[in-house]
Amino acid sequence: MTVIGGGPVGMFAAFYAGLHSAKVLLLESLAELGGQPGNLYPAKVLYDIGGYPNISGQKLVEQLETQVAHFKPTIQTATNVQTITKTDEGFTLETTNGTYQSKSVIIATGGGAFTPRKLAVDYDPALDDKLVNYFVRDLNSFKDLDVAIAGGGDSAIDWALAIAPIAKSVHLIHRRNQFRGLASSVEQLKASSVVLHTPYLIDSVEADGKRGNISLKEVRGDNTEALNVDKLLVNYGFMSENRQLRNWGLELEHNQIKVDSKMRTNIEGIYAIGDVVTYPGKLKLIASGFGEAPTAINEDLQALYPDRRQPTHSTQLYH
Ligand SMILES: Cc1cc2nc3c(=O)[nH]c(=O)nc-3n(C[C@H](O)[C@H](O)[C@H](O)COP(=O)(O)OP(=O)(O)OC[C@H]3O[C@@H](n4cnc5c(N)ncnc54)[C@H](O)[C@@H]3O)c2cc1C
Repeated sequence: MTVIGGGPVGMFAAFYAGLHSAKVLLLESLAELGGQPGNLYPAKVLYDIGGYPNISGQKLVEQLETQVAHFKPTIQTATNVQTITKTDEGFTLETTNGTYQSKSVIIATGGGAFTPRKLAVDYDPALDDKLVNYFVRDLNSFKDLDVAIAGGGDSAIDWALAIAPIAKSVHLIHRRNQFRGLASSVEQLKASSVVLHTPYLIDSVEADGKRGNISLKEVRGDNTEALNVDKLLVNYGFMSENRQLRNWGLELEHNQIKVDSKMRTNIEGIYAIGDVVTYPGKLKLIASGFGEAPTAINEDLQALYPDRRQPTHSTQLYH
């Protein structure tokens, strides 16, 4: 069974399919699992996840990573699914990272495949993931370092506040004097040790041994500033792309996949769950997606193995 999309719903689906002894392949277009909570709002606290009175986006992703690892599915990141073709055996999936065969497919592509918005200046691409970072894979990788963060939205502010207590210094660069974050976060930011550089834009980024020189230019002004840091974290947001959906032969409504109450699409053997689907009463919430996963997987297994009786409760299945 192939789950397309490693957001919260796809991760839970991959776990749940493993719980029911399916051989699972999980494909995610980004280099990291986590979908929207992992990439768009890692530091935001969620209050509507069953069993967690409060949990940050990042922590929820970590918990899902632990859960999905249990049944050892094959997880292939940096793999964007391009086409799905029906075969006698099931489906062939063409991706940016190889071709895969699968008996059935669960689509959990959410708002689409994300790519980070890149720095608007030319710099040596070899600096990506070293000096220039678009993701926070491990907060501790910023420990005791001089860090520059570019951006003025919630995510940039959240990361500045999270990194400041462990880094040697944090510089936040934003092209406006006003930040677009939650008022309480902006107040916290102003009271923190984070050095604010506003209204400034990054003009150039160059390696300086293992560190980097970043030159800043004032917006609508002539002032310049220079920073020498260990890491630059760029937080200009993400672009999402779900045009591929239109090539998969699925019935869509406003770019969402139409499903029935069993999460079946118009193509037998392809199910869809999470933010990517539409049906009467659909809510784009993680809790709703978590509920849709068991419906799709039980239906899929029932269709593939009509004579096999599936136990319903996890204790009969967990090993
Ligand atoms: C700012 C913000 C705050 C939110 N707050 C809450 C909240 O408090 N509570 C709540 O319940 N919900 C909240 N949500 C909504 C919640 O994040 C979504 O409902 C949830 O992320 C949907 O999960 P998903 O797995 O369906 O999709 P996503 O999280 O969008 O994940 C889909 C994944 O599929 C991948 N993908 C897409 N296309 C392809 C492809 N072709 N090949 C391979 N991989 C692909 C993407 O890269 C992505 O990682 C919030 C959303 C935002 C933006």
